[in-house]
Amino acid sequence: MGLFGMSIPQEYGGLGLTMTEEVKAAFVLGQASPAFRSLIGTNNGIGSQGIIIDGTAEQRERYLPRLATGELISSFALTEPDAGSDAGSLSTSAKRDGDHYVINGTKRFITNAPHAGLFTVFARTKPGSTNSSGVTAFLVDGDTAGITFGARDRKMGQRGTHTCDVIFQDVRVHESAIIGGPDRENQGFRTAMKVLDRGRLHISAVCVGAAERLIRDSLSYAMERRQFGEALAEKQLIQAMLADSKAEAFAARCMIEETARRRDSGQDVSTEAACCKMYASEMVGRVADRAVQIHGGAGYMSEYSVERFYRDVRLFRIYEGTTQIQQLIIARNMIRDAA
Ligand SMILES: Cc1cc2nc3c(=O)[nH]c(=O)nc-3n(C[C@H](O)[C@H](O)[C@H](O)COP(=O)(O)OP(=O)(O)OC[C@H]3O[C@@H](n4cnc5c(N)ncnc54)[C@H](O)[C@@H]3O)c2cc1C
Repeated sequence: MGLFGMSIPQEYGGLGLTMTEEVKAAFVLGQASPAFRSLIGTNNGIGSQGIIIDGTAEQRERYLPRLATGELISSFALTEPDAGSDAGSLSTSAKRDGDHYVINGTKRFITNAPHAGLFTVFARTKPGSTNSSGVTAFLVDGDTAGITFGARDRKMGQRGTHTCDVIFQDVRVHESAIIGGPDRENQGFRTAMKVLDRGRLHISAVCVGAAERLIRDSLSYAMERRQFGEALAEKQLIQAMLADSKAEAFAARCMIEETARRRDSGQDVSTEAACCKMYASEMVGRVADRAVQIHGGAGYMSEYSVERFYRDVRLFRIYEGTTQIQQLIIARNMIRDAA
């Protein structure tokens, strides 16, 4: 269906969807197990967007067509054991050696790493720097000598997606592996920031899809299951949970559609995309909790999909920037704009 290349331009074999079109696809994808979305997620997100926006013509030709078909799986390697939300403090180093760099360090929780043929690796190129200004983004082929993998992480949910540590030991890459070429040394974080809005909106839309699925499952269960002589759906306390979930999912959908439209018209949506990520990921957590409650004991059993969704959606509040990080972004932007 071309889902690996939703956000990749048509000239490179992708679908070239606008943001408005992509969130519509994500609303639907979110209704299935989140693990399916995750398999295509890294190719559509930062795994390809950095190359599209800042990559050289050669990098685009080399990687985008295979990313668009899914022949090549990409992973985004930013997080480290001691650098999570404060990603700019990362310690993986890339030391210059002639026209090459030698990368050393460990990346943690890297989605799709066991399957990846390409890693976008963030490493410190400015010795002595401690923040994001000394960090460069490299495109590293998965079969490069010196890359090894930790055991697959055992996770609370989304177990159909595989994450693990990726260890870089004396990994040599040519300077042409820097996204955008050697001139873009120390500018890896700028590249990352440019593509974050898209990823946040995509994840937000997946949250809405999952919420809508959970509401549908809850409604049909409540209409079938009878207690005290009538369907659960006739009980006002159950109706309150259904109504709250419906209204919140609808609010999130409207926010996301509006923000996608604004982004497509060329507006800066940094604040709005963070609002969407924060609201939609928290919203689907509440909806999943109510879905389990409406199902009663059955909701706690793995026979019903709400049990899995409840665990799966917990991740959305953590990765691609935690809720607290979204709050910081929103408030900082508010203060900056007011000043
Ligand atoms: C399943 C999974 C897949 C992932 N996939 C990837 C991937 O593909 N690539 C990748 O690079 N990373 C990936 N990550 C990492 C993910 O992005 C990080 O886990 C996330 O950014 C949070 O970092 P941390 O886990 O180190 O938590 P920490 O940064 O240690 O945060 C712990 C808590 O403190 C809060 N906190 C931190 N700083 C502040 C602050 N300034 N103010 C207030 N509260 C704060 C956080 O919100 C959180 O609640 C993945 C994680 C998981 C669980």
